[in-house]
Amino acid sequence: MLETYRRMLQAAGPVGPQLRMSQLLFALAAAAQGAAFACFYPLLRALFASPLNPTTVLGWFGVMTLLALVNMGLLWRAHAFDFNGPTADVTHDLRLRLGVQLRRMPLEELYRRRSGDLTDVLAGNVDQVTTPMGMLSSLVICTLVVPVVAVLVTLFIDWRLAVVMAIIFPLGLPIYRWIRRITGMEFRESTEAHAQTAAEIVEYTQGLPVLRSVNQVGAQARRLQQMLAHLRAVQVRANLRGAWPALLMASVVEIGILMVLALGAWFVLGGALDAAALAALLVIAVRFSEPLAILANITAVYDYMESGLERIEALLAVPPLPVKSPQQEITRFDISFDNVTFGYGSEPPTLCQVSFRLPENSLTALVGPSGVGKTTVTRLISRYADPQSGVIQIGGVDVRTVEPTDLMRHIAVVFQDVYLFDDTIRNNIRMAKPDATDAEVEAAAQAANCHEFIARLPDGYDTQVGDIGGALSGGERQRVSIARAILKDAQIVLLDEPTAALDTESEVAVQRAIDRLVQNKTVIVIAHRLSTVVGADQILVFDDGRIVEQGHHSDLLAQGGKYAAMWSAQQRAKGWRLTQGRAFAPAD
Ligand code: ADP
Repeated sequence: MLETYRRMLQAAGPVGPQLRMSQLLFALAAAAQGAAFACFYPLLRALFASPLNPTTVLGWFGVMTLLALVNMGLLWRAHAFDFNGPTADVTHDLRLRLGVQLRRMPLEELYRRRSGDLTDVLAGNVDQVTTPMGMLSSLVICTLVVPVVAVLVTLFIDWRLAVVMAIIFPLGLPIYRWIRRITGMEFRESTEAHAQTAAEIVEYTQGLPVLRSVNQVGAQARRLQQMLAHLRAVQVRANLRGAWPALLMASVVEIGILMVLALGAWFVLGGALDAAALAALLVIAVRFSEPLAILANITAVYDYMESGLERIEALLAVPPLPVKSPQQEITRFDISFDNVTFGYGSEPPTLCQVSFRLPENSLTALVGPSGVGKTTVTRLISRYADPQSGVIQIGGVDVRTVEPTDLMRHIAVVFQDVYLFDDTIRNNIRMAKPDATDAEVEAAAQAANCHEFIARLPDGYDTQVGDIGGALSGGERQRVSIARAILKDAQIVLLDEPTAALDTESEVAVQRAIDRLVQNKTVIVIAHRLSTVVGADQILVFDDGRIVEQGHHSDLLAQGGKYAAMWSAQQRAKGWRLTQGRAFAPAD
């Protein structure tokens, strides 16, 4: 519990001191309450005394009232942690910290996690940790301080009874351990199942159009239903298994209290204790039993919180790719790979001993069959992950010595699949340069050939992408992403098959936009259609993670190797056309 408490304070971050302060106030409030109980005994004795002395009675009553007021005041102050916003601050701060972590986490790690899983940590687990924070403090302190005070007060009444009460505490300990083991396990399992379900739901909803198209909605829904059924089973089991120890704990406490009272009654009958003392004891015993009985429930909340904490901590613990010192800045934009070998995770290398040099402001095409490592080359330039061996340099500077945000400032990427955020078209373009004026955004859109179709949208540049949904064609979306890249005006441009999924007409428009984007830039383009890279300054032909040929289009054709074979295959395919809508046949 102490360990979780320490981690909770750590999670509280900057409001940790406030949380600690609130806990101190809770402890003082509990102590004031305990002191008020201490007054019961003298008060009852004064009431039972004959002759009755009203001043003494009123005096003790006054002291009790005062202590009760102090207790109330302290509780109000202590609860400010919950009511005045610090809990919201902790939640906000924790989410921001996780957000920063997502930004600096190696991309490789980010891709490895399912998006629903990450959503669950940021949305679900954070609340799971912060919501009970304030409440837990008061409960835990109450549970610990009140029984201790109750035992101390009983010491003044009869030490033998105090000893009996003090024994009940350790009696509960093994049961407490048992509860923790079970609930800890169950909550971990339940949080895990929750995360998996969240991930499954996100994937299911995202994939619905595809699932419908292949008529597999039912099959995938069955997977989701199985996941939901599993979650339900885990939760039911957790509730059931947690209920027994909680009941047992409550029973042990009840029996202990009954023992104290029976013993007290016996002492009274034997004349060793007066009736006033027994009455006081009755009140104290009830107060003593309450916190102990709820200990089991508090434990459950602790475990619930801990299972969330574990997942948050695991995410925060992913180290960013280290920036080697001395840190350097990029001032030139030629790119070089020296004997770079890279494999994803523990898989065999995707790139083996790859070396090349791309002069500043040149256009290089990466070609080759799919799966040979072309995209991996572009990813490594933007430091998706570090290679297992070899060095990647931009302008003579090792990319590992450059601050990631600084590195990304110099690189614009245009992917085959375009992601547009549910925001206005204007903001979708502007995100490449947040301080860009409207005029700059529109100039970029003009250059990327999107101005015309944007002007036709209901609200022009202020049209919400979500509102028009799929109304933008693939080519239009691609041009918006090129407008982004033009606005960013980075010196290095990476193009990953930006026209591969487009029809010929869209391709022409996108190609024109690309031509404007790449002027005076160091460009790498991954190209499927070789006709688009005929004019490249340099073509690197990849096969099986290695560069097998390298040179200008005409040189490579003359070599008569792999490139020449790919070229003639594509030329031949061009010559094929659909005959009478039935079969493919050579054009001539
Ligand atoms: P290309 O761009 O030439 O089609 P890639 O660079 O995308 O090739 O992929 C090269 C190889 O690396 C492929 O076998 C692919 O399956 C594998 N690969 C790509 N991305 C990952 C990843 N995130 N995790 C594991 N393997 C990957």
